[in-house]
Amino acid sequence: MLESNSIKVEDKLFQNRYKVDEGNPHVCIEPHTVPSDVLQALVKLCPAGCYQKADDGTVEVLPDGCMECGTCRVLTAETGELQWNYPRGGYGIQFKFG
Ligand code: SF4
Repeated sequence: MLESNSIKVEDKLFQNRYKVDEGNPHVCIEPHTVPSDVLQALVKLCPAGCYQKADDGTVEVLPDGCMECGTCRVLTAETGELQWNYPRGGYGIQFKFG
């Protein structure tokens, strides 16, 4: 039985904070004209909504809010479509579990 004071996942995620490292995105997509199936899938799969389809049909990434789950890193490990690094120290996601 669910307790009446249960909390939603969205509410928990809202407690996290993200420090943007201006000019140093930790995820970059290699230039492309036609996005691969993997890149197109990431528009729906990224839990932070970092990927979006641009007007010219390419896929863009804005890693602000990235939760470092590694989904995109794993899915593109064989294709080399992404440059993925952890954010520099002091930047990126700061998880709050309280
Ligand atoms: Fe999105 Fe996870 Fe990739 Fe970050 S690591 S951009 S949250 S899929």
